[in-house]
Amino acid sequence: MTRITERHTLLSETPGTQRVVTIHRYGANTNGKKAYVQAALHADETPAMAAAHHLLQSLEEADNKGLIKGEIVVLPYANPIGLDQFQDDQLMGRVHLGGEGNFNRGWFDLTEMTKDRLAERLKNNPEENTSIIREAMQEALSEVTPTTEFGSLRKLLASEAAKADYVFDLHCDDDSLPYLYISDLNWPDCQDFAADFGAAAVMMAENSGGGSFDEVYTRPWAELARLYPNNPIPQATMSMTVEHRGRPDVSDEIGTKDGDALFKFFMRRGLIEGDAGPIPEPLCNATGTDACEIIESPGTGFVTYCKELGAQVKKGDQIATLINLSAEDPTKSRTPIFAGTDGIFFTRRQHKAVKPGLVVGKVAGTEPLKAGYLLED
Ligand SMILES: [Zn+2]
Repeated sequence: MTRITERHTLLSETPGTQRVVTIHRYGANTNGKKAYVQAALHADETPAMAAAHHLLQSLEEADNKGLIKGEIVVLPYANPIGLDQFQDDQLMGRVHLGGEGNFNRGWFDLTEMTKDRLAERLKNNPEENTSIIREAMQEALSEVTPTTEFGSLRKLLASEAAKADYVFDLHCDDDSLPYLYISDLNWPDCQDFAADFGAAAVMMAENSGGGSFDEVYTRPWAELARLYPNNPIPQATMSMTVEHRGRPDVSDEIGTKDGDALFKFFMRRGLIEGDAGPIPEPLCNATGTDACEIIESPGTGFVTYCKELGAQVKKGDQIATLINLSAEDPTKSRTPIFAGTDGIFFTRRQHKAVKPGLVVGKVAGTEPLKAGYLLED
């Protein structure tokens, strides 16, 4: 057995409270690659925690058999602050109710934090530069002095993830097919995972504008390579956000399948000894995050859908209807909602009540539709 389980306390914000993050570390003394997996940074995204739970069962078995050849770090719950945000028996896990915003935005800019430390240190060898940059990231993060509980969680998670070659941030959507966000810097390297996971859509961007957790470990390698063109800097970290379907999709069957996809990825990369078997046929090609249409409600009321998840739609196809309950003329209460691009309709709302601007669905297309900030809040 190689597993070490650590319990890290967060900064306490109120007298008598102390939250704890559990970290399971497999193969810490191996010299292999390092992977980092965290579940439910958006704390109400239970399918992510189910996937991590089942991954842990498989890792325990592999560890007992001595098959762990790299380091695999798993956080079965990444956000104990969000997990405590029950309101009227509903878990509100996406946004910090204490006012610090969406838990998955505004993560550390490791390029800004490290670039000035590197000028005199970089060498002409990509492996050495990987170690030098990782050290600089750890130095910079060690100098962060959190003043809030969430700040201390940010420092803990980022310090661990920044050491890894592979970072998996496990999430889910509302009512959704499985899909991925990944940097185009890591594609098509990770097509095998998309196929094992059964991703219905894969969205790529180097920078989607929100400082989301997964992006901040991938992007610095490309940005630093552009800043220091005379020193070889490899794309040393692969990082992705895995969207494990919709919030209600929690079962041992789904969790096992999703945990297996992660386990196979680690096998295929040599972190676990064994044969992951043939790679299934991928269900989709990757497309740009800028080609993902986020369809918002044009008004108030509730929506009904006329397309199922997985439908291939054309620009102008109706996907839903907004029903305005306060229309003075009931015959004019129905407003069609259309797809604005060709692609796969892959997310919807679970709860159908809406107000203007709420996201009612997403279509992964191929034509770029936007620039700058590419995500939903
Ligand atoms: Zn999420």
